[in-house]
Amino acid sequence: MKISFPHLGYCSIPLRSLFADLGHEVIVPPPITRKTISLGTRHGPEFACYPLKLGLGNFIEALELGADTLVMGGGIGPCRFGYYAQVQRDILQSLGYKFKMLVVEPPLGHARQVLAVARELKGGKSWLDLMRAGQLALAKLRACDELHRASLKQRPRVQDKPAFSRLYQQTLEELDAAPGIRAVNIVRDKALAAMEAMPLLDRIPPKVALVGEVYLIAEPAANLRIEEKLGNMGVEVCRHVWISEWLRVNIFLDFLRLHRQEKAEKLARPYLQCFVGGHGQHSVGETRKAIRDGFDGVIHVYPFTCTPEIVARGIMQKLAAQERMPLACFSMDEHSGEAGFQTRLEAFVDILGHRVKRVKEMIELG
Ligand code: SF4
Repeated sequence: MKISFPHLGYCSIPLRSLFADLGHEVIVPPPITRKTISLGTRHGPEFACYPLKLGLGNFIEALELGADTLVMGGGIGPCRFGYYAQVQRDILQSLGYKFKMLVVEPPLGHARQVLAVARELKGGKSWLDLMRAGQLALAKLRACDELHRASLKQRPRVQDKPAFSRLYQQTLEELDAAPGIRAVNIVRDKALAAMEAMPLLDRIPPKVALVGEVYLIAEPAANLRIEEKLGNMGVEVCRHVWISEWLRVNIFLDFLRLHRQEKAEKLARPYLQCFVGGHGQHSVGETRKAIRDGFDGVIHVYPFTCTPEIVARGIMQKLAAQERMPLACFSMDEHSGEAGFQTRLEAFVDILGHRVKRVKEMIELG
């Protein structure tokens, strides 16, 4: 099979590893550019979620490069993610592309479909081979998450930001090429040590919580590289979604039917009792957590027309106003412009600076 999938941050690294180890030719779609966005918006429904359009653009570019199998995640309500694969498949077929789409549904309640997709993906390989390939892919995903977490902490602190970006990028390439778990660990440890060793600025950065819809948080092309921009402006970002953690909770624990109750859901409950789809409930819970933990601000990113996050935003604005917590909400789509976004971010960072100064003065005055 000539297999492809949509981009989601650095997830192409573990996915390439997984499919290549199973003997497939992997066609990673080109990085998301204006061309990808315009392909997705030209052929996608106007009011579809932005992630659907970007994924559609990825698929078109991959099919043009010769992919014949597309792998896509599935889902169950209440929001629209569960329909992405079917809508994208119908659009691509109407454009005349010939391909097979494999939809990986959440395992709980869909064990048979998941097994059927796994059997198709493993092809002539054994189940043991599939397990080994999965272990290496997971190790790469965890290493990417660890590296990224460390980068969010260190970037605002280091003096030489361009050198930091080069180190980060080079490490991702090395992780992509790492042939086994041992090599992955070596690359990760070397990069973390190099980050630690970089000369630091003499200041403590303000800390913001980045909350919102998972795709917008994880895909830099969709969020206009918000984490990198904030880091370069000297702001430490704490994000609440990590793909390896998301897989652990939503795939493994759900599959094993193990009870789980996430803190953010509990914290959101007095304001939003039910699951509204996506990460809406988490956004509210994480905002309360940020207020409780003394963060300096909250940034909310979500696709234009994303209902769960629109529900959450109203509650978050009320909470932030009550607690005098700076909150910036960015609704993104194909019309989001880099210049206006940068200006709004800079204004927000100014507000953070004033707040940090005021809090410091209040502490000094006792
Ligand atoms: S969470 Fe928002 S963006 Fe994602 S599928 Fe649901 S409505 Fe669309």
